[in-house]
Amino acid sequence: MRTQTTLSPADLRHFENLLLEERRDLDIALGRITHTLDDVIEARNNGTADDEHDPEGPTLTMEWSRISGVHSEFEAKAATIDRALARISDGSYGLCVRRGEPIGLARLEARPAAELCIDCARDAEARLRA
Ligand SMILES: [Zn+2]
Repeated sequence: MRTQTTLSPADLRHFENLLLEERRDLDIALGRITHTLDDVIEARNNGTADDEHDPEGPTLTMEWSRISGVHSEFEAKAATIDRALARISDGSYGLCVRRGEPIGLARLEARPAAELCIDCARDAEARLRA
């Protein structure tokens, strides 16, 4: 399995910038969501938001699970970007993490944090559906 990238230093810099930009946006979004979660916690804890007695209760619970769902989704995305940035540092960026073949510039352009080549991604998806 190949472990060294086939991308040029210029390409690597390009994708690193894309990843860092995406990471920054995610950080901002995560910060906002954390703030919103804090507000929901506060509303839940101030007594007026009792799930059983207050009509606002169930709404808050739903809001909570919606926001925390988005939060974990963003955190997972951030982790994927961090792994991609780590692969840029160790020289394995742009290679499929499964079999080591080049992922392809068009795919990286569309998804800079992609870990699998299109074949492995389709394969993984087919397995999920099976
Ligand atoms: Zn692959």
